[in-house]
Amino acid sequence: MSIEPFTAVAVCPKCGNVATHHWRMPIRVDLTPLAGDDPPTRLLRQLTALEREINTLALGSTRVFDDPDAEVIRQCACGHEWPQK
Ligand SMILES: [Zn+2]
Repeated sequence: MSIEPFTAVAVCPKCGNVATHHWRMPIRVDLTPLAGDDPPTRLLRQLTALEREINTLALGSTRVFDDPDAEVIRQCACGHEWPQK
């Protein structure tokens, strides 16, 4: 899926509303080793990310993790969200 570039005014791909939609930071699974990350700490971070994903799925949310290439997630008043970069 290609991600559209960030624009101040955007068209909601679901309802067509043209506005300066709100945005939020993407939810990511970050498995990149951090400086000084020892194996147990890295495993703990990965398990925490997995637990978060399972909890999100259990709550029936469609929001799990966003596209890893997204820099922002735009939010329309209709409830639709989509990535931009
Ligand atoms: Zn919309």
